Amino acid sequence: MILLDISIFTTADANWSRGLGPYVDGANYYLASFNIKLNVLPAASGPPVDLLLSGKMYDPPPDFNLISMRPGDLRAAAQTLSPSLRGLPVIFCKFNRSDAGLTTYTEDKAANRYFPWANYCMINEKYLNSDRAALLHEMIHASGYIGDIDPLWGRNIHDSQTGSIMRPNPDPTRPVQVFDRHARALEGAYFARAA
Ligand SMILES: [Zn+2]
Repeated sequence: MILLDISIFTTADANWSRGLGPYVDGANYYLASFNIKLNVLPAASGPPVDLLLSGKMYDPPPDFNLISMRPGDLRAAAQTLSPSLRGLPVIFCKFNRSDAGLTTYTEDKAANRYFPWANYCMINEKYLNSDRAALLHEMIHASGYIGDIDPLWGRNIHDSQTGSIMRPNPDPTRPVQVFDRHARALEGAYFARAA
């Protein structure tokens, strides 16, 4: 059994309860046949850690707007409130964009305000995709998964294969498939451990 540790955070004005339970259940459903399971911190039954910040997260960062909140601001707040946080930070917040989720990579200096955070994920509190795959899609990104299309930071981050969970902007009404190569990437992630 492989456990994937994720630490859940929310901005003060985000409806985290819309997606947290369904996305965790969805991820565990898709990963069950690979003997991989999420370990949610704080315990899934409790509320996430409140970052005490409000407003939309902007990415790519609009440099003309100096007071806009960037992914790195949320990530830094998570570290301040939970100095001993374990695993992959997953932050529920409002997005300026319409994506269901976003992964910020270490290489994204502007989004991270030049702090070299390990990859982390954000979930758009506005949506719940019916395939319940948005969290797992972002977690596979955070594992450093290499697909065959969409170059970003020197690697292809998405799959061209129809039906793959790593298709870009998947149709949320269609079921997705998780393949062995996705499971292998997760097993090698910094937030994975044998149990
Ligand atoms: Zn993606």
